[in-house]
Amino acid sequence: MKIVFATGNKHKLEEINEISKGSGIEFILPQNDFNPVENGRTFEENSLIKAKAAYSGMMTLADDSGLCVEALNGAPGLYSARYAGSQDEKINKILEELKPHKNRKAKFVCVMTLLDEKGEILYVSKGECHGRIAQKRSGKNGFGYDPVFIVGDGDLTMADMPEEEKNKISHRAIALKNIISKIACHI
Ligand code: IMP
Repeated sequence: MKIVFATGNKHKLEEINEISKGSGIEFILPQNDFNPVENGRTFEENSLIKAKAAYSGMMTLADDSGLCVEALNGAPGLYSARYAGSQDEKINKILEELKPHKNRKAKFVCVMTLLDEKGEILYVSKGECHGRIAQKRSGKNGFGYDPVFIVGDGDLTMADMPEEEKNKISHRAIALKNIISKIACHI
């Protein structure tokens, strides 16, 4: 079964296909031009905006995700993709802003919205992964803020973890597993 995944980020597509391996579902990129204006006020609103932008008559899944840092009042949050210029600059900005703070607690959040073949909302699912921001980058895997996000109380960043390990515990994996069980009930 094929489901459109509303993203332009090939890494995210690979991740969700890896997470859903064995489910009989293949996620594919949108067939239309996908360039939505993400002007929602919440992850929920943005994931619905993306799902509607990618919808073209097939079942469609969208996610909106971000990193929320406690001492920065939840920033970069919704603005994770636009917090600074390059990904390197985004990470530098967080490390700089956290310098005066002892509290380095953070979480990744992912909200997924699934539209049915008629374009109606079938399910909304949220996943969170808790941890803290490292003092410096470590690891080569993953993408985005992975090199500075330490998972749970451990000492490995998400970029230190093999992809299969990240895909067991990530915010996206948690949100997607709920969605997959919902799809299984729908078909
Ligand atoms: P989105 O594509 O609008 O959901 O943008 C989310 C942004 O949050 C991405 O560009 C990344 O910077 C960050 N992000 C979301 N999920 C992850 C993850 O699993 N690892 C690292 N960064 C992430």
